[in-house]
Amino acid sequence: MSTLFISDLHLDAALPELTSLFVQFMREQAPSAEALYILGDLFEAWVGDDDFRPGTQVFVDELRRLSDSGTPLYVMHGNRDFLLAEKFTERTGCTLLPEPSVIDLYGTATLLLHGDSLCTDDVKHQESRALLRSEDWKQRFLSQTLEDRIEQAREYRNMSRMHLKDAPDAIMDVNTDTVVDMMQQYNVQQMIHGHTHRPAIHPLSVNEQPAKRIVLGDWNSHGSVLHCDASGCQLESFTL
Ligand code: MN
Repeated sequence: MSTLFISDLHLDAALPELTSLFVQFMREQAPSAEALYILGDLFEAWVGDDDFRPGTQVFVDELRRLSDSGTPLYVMHGNRDFLLAEKFTERTGCTLLPEPSVIDLYGTATLLLHGDSLCTDDVKHQESRALLRSEDWKQRFLSQTLEDRIEQAREYRNMSRMHLKDAPDAIMDVNTDTVVDMMQQYNVQQMIHGHTHRPAIHPLSVNEQPAKRIVLGDWNSHGSVLHCDASGCQLESFTL
């Protein structure tokens, strides 16, 4: 038995191949896992738990099917789906994990986070992150009609795309000092995160002890999953 970690699927009902890849993963790989952790940006955009459009319901149904079958499913907020809330957990049977969280992964204390909070060189992203996560902003956003929220999310994504195009590559990666600070703060030698779309297992040193930072991959024409068991962790990719 192994524990699976995924992130950055950016599920979008307008992308049928990605949808099929997700359905295949949820039906063929995930059921044999001890638990499935989704570390943010499961959805390209989540505009509120009251989104019952058929395209969204397809994803909700897959999550529900897996949790009903007895596989524990943990979901963490990403920077695109931070509005996932209680109603979503009721619809899917997922548990929302606070960000960051420390879990015991086969005897190793492991810090889980989406990863955008580690990109402290990207000042613009950190500013908008602080604004969008404020209760005030969330309440104002959610008080609009579903149609208006969908439209506004589209505008945010366009702005984000322009920012990604302009920002230098290095700024978009994690800041290594922030990584070490965070691992010291939570007293861990292992961290798993996504967000940067740069899958890798990085050895590093924390408190003069060997440590590991595991970065999950994004999904596009292929899926990316981290398998962990008592013997260690491995990144794998797969296609339809
Ligand atoms: Mn992200």
